[in-house]
Amino acid sequence: MPSANSSATPLPDQTRAECAVISLEHVTREYTGHAGTVQALESASFSIVAGEWVAITGPSGSGKSTLVNLLGCLDRPTRGELRIDGVDVKSMSPSALDRFRAEKIGFIFQQFHLIPYLTALENVMLAQYFHSMTDANEARAALARVGLSDRAGHLPSELSGGEQQRVCIARALINNPPILLADEPTGNLDEANQTIVAGLLSQLHAQGNTIVMVTHDPEMASLASRRIALNHGRVFCHPAAPVVTLRR
Ligand code: ADP
Repeated sequence: MPSANSSATPLPDQTRAECAVISLEHVTREYTGHAGTVQALESASFSIVAGEWVAITGPSGSGKSTLVNLLGCLDRPTRGELRIDGVDVKSMSPSALDRFRAEKIGFIFQQFHLIPYLTALENVMLAQYFHSMTDANEARAALARVGLSDRAGHLPSELSGGEQQRVCIARALINNPPILLADEPTGNLDEANQTIVAGLLSQLHAQGNTIVMVTHDPEMASLASRRIALNHGRVFCHPAAPVVTLRR
């Protein structure tokens, strides 16, 4: 694995607020069902600035998926203010949110979610299509960035898990989104491919990309420039602190 980023220097609060690509103020997400109401995320307040690589960690049931769904604009808070790239997403219509998501977020999923009957190149071009216009040369360049020039014509079933994840990263990068949101990006990979994907994420971070990554893997988490830990739906995070540990 690449070495950990040790250059995290806390920014003054005001500078952080001005540079924030993600900011949460007292964000709560409740689920109400027949068994009552569950507070999956409780009054979360923190910000993530451009260029940070943040690892979100926590035990099962602590609210990681809930938080990722909110940050990925796949869901909206029950209460509180969530700003993505300066925009309050709470009042957006579902179609506006779809459009916003395509522009702002590049998703990297544990399960890859590639379309099985499309080639690697076509999978990347599909993300271009949903964003604006397809451009095969740009899509090829994105595959080249992740070292897959020679696999552009392969179907996902003809690729290893590591190669599929690299296609997923190329797809996430293709529209230059301000945020890369990775959900257990190495969770389905063997050690060799974990190392390759960790190296790619480190490279993307070094190039200035903002990466928000949920991970169970302490080694992956240690590569990030900051950690946000969740427990029982609560985040304890001093915005200027490079590493955060929390207890309920
Ligand atoms: P994690 O991803 O860390 O495992 P989740 O965000 O999935 O945690 O879940 C946080 C809490 O919210 C858990 O107690 C879970 O049971 C509950 N939860 C998640 N989704 C729903 C839902 N749709 N309806 C009711 N409760 C939910």
